[in-house]
Amino acid sequence: MSMANPLYDTLFGRHEGRDTPFLISREGRVTSHAEFLALAARIAHALVDAGLKPGDRVAVQVEKSQQALALYAACVRAGLVFLPLNTAYTVEELSYFIEDSGARLVICDPAREDGLAPLCDRLGAQILTLGADGHGGLMAQAARHEDRFETVPRDEDDLAAFLYTSGTTGRSKGAMLTQGNLISNAVTLVEHWRFTEDDVLLHALPIFHTHGLFVATNVIAVAGASMIFLPKFDLDALIELMPRATSMMGVPTFYTRLLGDARFTRELTENMRLFISGSAPLLAETHVEFEKRTGHRILERYGMTETNMNTSNPYDGERRAGTVGFPLPGVELKITDRETGEELPRGEVGLIEVRGPNVFKGYWQMPEKTKAELREDGFFITGDLGRIDEDGYVSIVGRDKDLIISGGYNIYPKEIELLLDEQPGVLESAVIGVKDADFGESVVGVLVPRPGAEIDPEAVMAAMQGSLARFKQPRRIEIVEELPRNTMGKVQKALLRERFGG
Ligand code: ATP
Ligand code: MG
Repeated sequence: MSMANPLYDTLFGRHEGRDTPFLISREGRVTSHAEFLALAARIAHALVDAGLKPGDRVAVQVEKSQQALALYAACVRAGLVFLPLNTAYTVEELSYFIEDSGARLVICDPAREDGLAPLCDRLGAQILTLGADGHGGLMAQAARHEDRFETVPRDEDDLAAFLYTSGTTGRSKGAMLTQGNLISNAVTLVEHWRFTEDDVLLHALPIFHTHGLFVATNVIAVAGASMIFLPKFDLDALIELMPRATSMMGVPTFYTRLLGDARFTRELTENMRLFISGSAPLLAETHVEFEKRTGHRILERYGMTETNMNTSNPYDGERRAGTVGFPLPGVELKITDRETGEELPRGEVGLIEVRGPNVFKGYWQMPEKTKAELREDGFFITGDLGRIDEDGYVSIVGRDKDLIISGGYNIYPKEIELLLDEQPGVLESAVIGVKDADFGESVVGVLVPRPGAEIDPEAVMAAMQGSLARFKQPRRIEIVEELPRNTMGKVQKALLRERFGG
């Protein structure tokens, strides 16, 4: 079967005449698939009117809204490369991404417009506000157009999106994703997680990141299902709306925040069939508490900007706490030695490498980095360390960049963090390596106390001496109020190393 624009057809095209809900607002306002796609068609006209040609990049930094999502669908339909940017970025940070990406059009909220205009001028890029509030901008232009649009033909190998990585380990990299990358993942996930048109997903994630856009949104689009589309994470809204939903995707903090609220009860989740977690490790404790409270076992999965989703715990069968499950159908995953690149046997810790139709085309304008991380045989070196247990479950041990090498020994922070988390008064922990004149690096444990509790560093050190080999024992314990995290809930260890490295 030949398709004109495989991504548009897979996600949206099939639903053009569909009157069932696609987006539901907190207030209960419903936008059908048909209405959403009509809006996307008008936006596509406005984009073409602005002179954009297939393959051009559209950089978008706007607050989450139905219009912002329709802009994504419009870009897909018009054959443009969608480039969403974190709403937390300042004008200065944005300038880097706009210049680096060579975007032809920048769409931003009014607050950023004046700051970005001179740069866009210099680069010859156009700048527009989204105008979702009814004041001019792209939406005003779209409103003048009809809702019929001739889909621009594309190939599975054509770029569909540019997504900058979260920047947890250094400067963000622009990952080039093809139509085929996005299609394969969305279709696989719909099947794997059993999404049907009857599903209603609670969507409280940002849409500038893989999780909220290429997992949550694409899955719901392919399934022809609907989502309760919240502008941001909002505990009250989640609790209020959960009885109307069937499923939720979230980062681990969503789950800990829900558990911290007494209104979150088993009755509230009776209509829910699936809770999915990803983007950062889910603590075993959260897993257990969640099941105790609701009877549901959270399904944890693992993915990244460069590859979308790699693994998932099973839908049926055991969802094993502390693991990210099995490689998804079509995805090959192996563990290799960080020195030799040789594949390691089960149980041993090494680099996680993945291959499959989900793996991206490379980093934008970083040919050397691309060559170093994307092997010729198609395996991508993820930069995560992990192991596969005897039953085939994959677990993530940490990031290669966070590996501590002390006196020639490899130390995996996760192993120590798990022990620290169990100490009296400890809410959570992060283990980092700091420079050490004798050993190259030594271990520092950074601890966050539970509310109202106190931590006794001496007692923690003593407990570690009883449970860990000498080279793994923290040389120092630091207490902080909270761990530095980015918007996706990832602990930024580089910041901790800066702060406590000396
Ligand atoms: P950068 O590459 O710029 O340093 P980043 O890797 O955090 O940033 P993302 O692509 O957003 O950017 O995040 C992917 C990473 O998130 C994975 O490589 C992995 O380290 C982590 N991750 C995702 N899901 C899980 C999970 N279930 N458990 C543990 N870690 C996870
Ligand atoms: Mg990364």
